[in-house]
Amino acid sequence: MTDDRPHPHPLRPQDLEPGDHWARTCPHCHTVIQGGRAGVAAHITVVHPEEGPA
Ligand SMILES: [Zn+2]
Repeated sequence: MTDDRPHPHPLRPQDLEPGDHWARTCPHCHTVIQGGRAGVAAHITVVHPEEGPA
């Protein structure tokens, strides 16, 4: 299994927008997700597409 897709969200805490938080909790499944706001948005798109954006 390979994953060579471009990542749509920051990969490092240093890449976050000012004011964002690196580790966030998914509002739907309460999994801790790294990658800030964009990381959570990407998680929701993949895992909870029926829920829509947070
Ligand atoms: Zn989730």
